[in-house]
Amino acid sequence: MEPILLAAADAPVRFGVELLGLTEEPESVVAHLVDHPHGGGMHVRARYVLAADGANSTVRQRLGIDTTGPGAMAAVTTVVFDADLHTWCADQPAGVYFTAHGSFLPLYPEGGWAWLAPTPEDPHGADWADLVSRALGPGAAVRADVLRVQHWVMNAFVAERFRHDRILLAGDAAHALPIIGGLGMNTGISDVHNLCWKLAGVLRGWAGPSLLDTYATERQPVAHLTLRQAVANTHLMFQAQSLRQQQLRTGEAAPARVELPWSDRYFAQLGLVLGVTYRSAAVLTDGSPPPEPSDVGTDYVPTAEPGHRMPHLWLGRDRSTLDAFGEWFTLLTPDPTRWERRSATPWPLRVEPLADEHTGRCGVSPEGALLIRPDGHVSARWRDRPPGGSVLVHALATVTGSAPL
Ligand SMILES: Cc1cc2nc3c(=O)[nH]c(=O)nc-3n(C[C@H](O)[C@H](O)[C@H](O)COP(=O)(O)OP(=O)(O)OC[C@H]3O[C@@H](n4cnc5c(N)ncnc54)[C@H](O)[C@@H]3O)c2cc1C
Repeated sequence: MEPILLAAADAPVRFGVELLGLTEEPESVVAHLVDHPHGGGMHVRARYVLAADGANSTVRQRLGIDTTGPGAMAAVTTVVFDADLHTWCADQPAGVYFTAHGSFLPLYPEGGWAWLAPTPEDPHGADWADLVSRALGPGAAVRADVLRVQHWVMNAFVAERFRHDRILLAGDAAHALPIIGGLGMNTGISDVHNLCWKLAGVLRGWAGPSLLDTYATERQPVAHLTLRQAVANTHLMFQAQSLRQQQLRTGEAAPARVELPWSDRYFAQLGLVLGVTYRSAAVLTDGSPPPEPSDVGTDYVPTAEPGHRMPHLWLGRDRSTLDAFGEWFTLLTPDPTRWERRSATPWPLRVEPLADEHTGRCGVSPEGALLIRPDGHVSARWRDRPPGGSVLVHALATVTGSAPL
């Protein structure tokens, strides 16, 4: 992942530089940094700070922002090792193997694995290769070549505030989610997807500073919902693990595999990832009733209702609606000529034709339109031909918190 992010960054990235503190000024924030590889301190002044400094966020702690949630749920050790386990998993390859003695995750096809288990009382004196072999079972006789050992805490909390004036928390700094379900990084990436177009708008002058308030309004409820699901997943995993341990201890005939109560739901959490809905000043609702999934965590009902993530639809051969969205607003309409005549200055806007076959699914007539935000969420919908000529600029000004034109 890191090479991909570094290749995409168009600003200098400095490794080994630590943030010691921040000083807030009326129009900016000054970061106090120490450059460990080269020695010496430095100051960087910026209009905004995005604190993506992880679950133990220095920035969150310096600002005194509290957290809510269960807190530390477990002390975990990850052991990365090379071993040939292919005879055990060839029949049923999986992304995670939950066992009574921790979880095994294949990392790469040549035989790299991670073993996640509770941290032992004396981690410094532990023989990790022996512990891995024993966790694999007495009959395994597997030689584990240990490459790396990391101790970490499985945290579960959401920050009480995501914003402090010009400082915004994102990712694990804003919400530490237990890993069961693999939701942590998804949620962090969705945070910055939500935030960065808003920051760009404010810095480039086509959005008002109040647009930044919608970041917490939109993302904090998602963090709480996701935390609830991740904590429930974790409790269920602990239960399944202790049941299996009990079976092994008592010699009770164990089924070949203990069914995890939530196995059919594990990694099936599209509702949490794609079904996210925003209600804020950056969305113009049109009063239509939202779709009702039977389970908001697992079920995803694609819809073009304002606030929802615009679903995939084919715009043409090999081109999806999702390919059309970027650092601009997108107007999807079956009637592009009429809409292109409308001014959208100063907002970045692209008009895209929507095939007639999709109008029913999008809830628009042949003269209607959908306005999509740069993060792919629907910010407004006109079912029919809109009344006045200024309706588009009015909508853009409203959802970006700009001064009325
Ligand atoms: C074993 C494991 C498995 C996981 N599996 C998944 C998964 O399958 N799917 C998923 O979505 N998520 C998963 N996660 C969660 C995911 O890794 C995290 O949610 C994600 O890495 C958080 O990214 P982040 O950038 O917010 O924070 P981090 O990745 O923690 O990055 C924060 C960075 O800030 C730096 N930093 C901290 N303080 C300072 C300071 N004062 N000065 C300078 N730098 C500082 C840190 O060194 C670090 O580089 C997993 C996590 C673990 C531990």
